[in-house]
Amino acid sequence: MLLRQFAAPQPFAATGHAPARGEIGEPAVPDLGHGPHAPFALPPLPYSLRALSPIISARTLQYHYRRHHAGYLSNLNRQLTGHPMAGEPLITVIRETRGGTEPGSLFNNAAQVWNHSFYWRCLIPGGGKPPAGRLASAIERDFGGFTALADRLITAATSHFASGWVWLCAENGYLSLQRTANADTPIRQPGRVPLLTIDVWEHAYYLDYQNRRSDYAVRLVDRLLNWPFAAQIFQTHLEQVQRDQAALTLPSASAPAPVTPPAPASEPSEPAPAREPAAAPRTAPGLVLTAPADTRSATFSRLARLR
Ligand code: MN
Repeated sequence: MLLRQFAAPQPFAATGHAPARGEIGEPAVPDLGHGPHAPFALPPLPYSLRALSPIISARTLQYHYRRHHAGYLSNLNRQLTGHPMAGEPLITVIRETRGGTEPGSLFNNAAQVWNHSFYWRCLIPGGGKPPAGRLASAIERDFGGFTALADRLITAATSHFASGWVWLCAENGYLSLQRTANADTPIRQPGRVPLLTIDVWEHAYYLDYQNRRSDYAVRLVDRLLNWPFAAQIFQTHLEQVQRDQAALTLPSASAPAPVTPPAPASEPSEPAPAREPAAAPRTAPGLVLTAPADTRSATFSRLARLR
């Protein structure tokens, strides 16, 4: 498999988080500070335990971060001691163990470590304000506006059955909502990049809201979601899509294929809004895609021949 160091300009520099290594044709996911391999580190909370109060109390954050998140990390590092994957990056551990979904499995602990580190970054005091720029344009195109997207995030978080996560993801420049059960995570799917997530496990809200998950979801979306963080990731994603597009349009490449939206997720995903046209090809702002999203393996083969 061809690998390269993903040299993105600056979007993560201000936060000290560099993009992770990405395969050619595969968007990088943000490096959240776990370190290069096991034993992985617990990234510090990006704010104080009281910073998200009263929406999320210090007591909830203390249990959630210091007990649940730290517990997953402790279990993961113990399981990786002497394990053949002990020298691999966290994302590789997640992708290579994704069939192991039994409780307490290596996959569950690895995925929950990454999911929680990402979730903390998705929240910020004074958040919830609509983004600007290319993410705003993409939200308008794919959801019909920020308010419509916020409503769909709340609905997805409220209606998801049992434990799991709600995600806003990007793929080939397009946005979609995804729900995952238990520890499952979009980053195990090559090509899909999460921009924001909401933890809908009971431990995320029960101390503050008991069974009222909708109250937690509404307040979190209205006042805590970190849209500038999502916009940074989306910008990096678009830049990589454009670089891959440039590689695909070298003279030896075959004729451009029609643009298609991303393939449907294998997990339960939110249905596309009824207002979207069914058949019309869509082009992301500033992007000219020549490879359909559902021929990714063919894309990899073609890239391999070009290099
Ligand atoms: Mn959690």
